Amino acid sequence: MDRALFQQEMIRSEIAEIVGEEYVSTRESDRLVYSTDWSWMPQMWLDRGKPLMTPDIIVHPGTPEEIAELTFVANKYKIPIVPWGGGSGTQGGALPMFGGILLDTKRMNRILEIDEVSLTATAEAGIIIQQLEWAVNERGLMFPHYAASSNCATLGGALAPRGTGTMSTKYGKAEDLVLSMEVVLPTGEIINTAPVPQHASGPDWFRLFLGSEGTFGIITKATVQLDYLPEARYMRAVLFKDMNAALEAGRRIMTRRLDPFVIRLYDHESTRTRVRKILGYEFDGSYMVIGFDGDPDIAKLQQQKALDICFELGAEDLGEEPGEKWWNHRYDFYYPPINLKLPWMYGTTETVTTYDKIQGVYYAIKEAVEGGFKEWNVRWIGHFSHWFHWGVMLYSRFIIEEPPQDAQEALRLHNRVWEAAMTAAIENGGMINEHHGVGVKLGRYMRRQFKDAWPFLLRLKDAIDPNHIMNPGKTGF
Ligand SMILES: Cc1cc2nc3c(=O)[nH]c(=O)nc-3n(C[C@H](O)[C@H](O)[C@H](O)COP(=O)(O)OP(=O)(O)OC[C@H]3O[C@@H](n4cnc5c(N)ncnc54)[C@H](O)[C@@H]3O)c2cc1C
Repeated sequence: MDRALFQQEMIRSEIAEIVGEEYVSTRESDRLVYSTDWSWMPQMWLDRGKPLMTPDIIVHPGTPEEIAELTFVANKYKIPIVPWGGGSGTQGGALPMFGGILLDTKRMNRILEIDEVSLTATAEAGIIIQQLEWAVNERGLMFPHYAASSNCATLGGALAPRGTGTMSTKYGKAEDLVLSMEVVLPTGEIINTAPVPQHASGPDWFRLFLGSEGTFGIITKATVQLDYLPEARYMRAVLFKDMNAALEAGRRIMTRRLDPFVIRLYDHESTRTRVRKILGYEFDGSYMVIGFDGDPDIAKLQQQKALDICFELGAEDLGEEPGEKWWNHRYDFYYPPINLKLPWMYGTTETVTTYDKIQGVYYAIKEAVEGGFKEWNVRWIGHFSHWFHWGVMLYSRFIIEEPPQDAQEALRLHNRVWEAAMTAAIENGGMINEHHGVGVKLGRYMRRQFKDAWPFLLRLKDAIDPNHIMNPGKTGF
């Protein structure tokens, strides 16, 4: 008998004893489904008829205790466990690079408590974010992590790569909205972080799991912050002839703490192409949408002060309608029929930096991509979203409509464009990403990004996951 098959069957039986036969699959069709997330690389690879790395066994556990048992099996046989939420990640974070156990968390999807006094919800990490949102909406509340993928991404999948939603500028990133978590460690312990988020009881070790993308453990439960559904929501749009003036307007609005829940600023090229295609507006300049919400009187006043800043810096008022329309169609940018898709080559780099460096980062990445890949007629567009008191994120995309047909050549070109963009980001003081995760795509830049701090992270990984079973090949580990 084939040795590998014998071993695989022994492991499968052991796992089936833990979770039940119906929650384990080794079917080829399932293995294929779980071989690609939403990232371009594996999708292109499959599109070109090439086989991908598949998981050996797909498991749907129902409790943290079952996951703990699975870690014992994985450590014994030295096989990987790859956590999978909705598979909507764009950096290959959930790809089973080395086979092993693919652990789909979506069976663990219960809402355990909605606390209407402290405004918190506690849910299992496999819940789809939109389902949590619908449930709290019924109580007049919202979970303000409004990601464009909320209809298919899980709570754990938002926390693990430190995701960001449309309203992060006011309400914070997913990592700011989580108050406590339950995590199954690679060594099988089920640990709970402190019941309250802010305290001085030692270092903030709970944050280690945010951004670890499943390499330090599996998040099985989380308590998150809710907010009241806003009484009022005011949207407005303005147009800047000069994108740098628009960036300065955003900076002033944020540093004066006017508290918009969203500022979305499109550069000239994305205003001319994406905004025209999706919203139907023919604007010549940089289109900026600003939103305020909450108490109607306060929100109106904040909006007026923000508009005054924009006008001082030369903006033209476009009125409410182009702001409202953007809000109502904000997710259309990412879904069929408008989304970027094969056979095109594309990639989204999202770089965050401080205000003093943002222009440098923008022009450096633009030049690196547009200047470096002219022979491929590359197009590059960018917008700024997710504003902080200290800086802002640049979400930029490259598009090559006629990439090489050969899969290996295409992957090499994709990697070269990313290399150019990431080098430009790092050399100009930007971070390699802000919310899409590091995954497999950006892992090799972690050393360059963190320099002398990287060995410290490696030592943490060794201590937490001695056999390196958890999601190998991701975040640089
Ligand atoms: C159309 C579209 C729009 C998007 N818009 C946004 C957006 O607005 N904001 C944003 O932040 N992202 C966005 N993304 C990226 C992606 O959807 C998010 O990163 C999302 O949070 C991933 O959730 P998921 O459940 O699909 O995770 P997966 O893709 O399944 O996994 C992502 C990573 O987290 C790990 N992981 C998953 N669950 C757990 C767990 N319970 N414990 C530990 N590790 C875990 C996985 O191993 C993997 O490394 C978008 C993607 C698409 C396709």
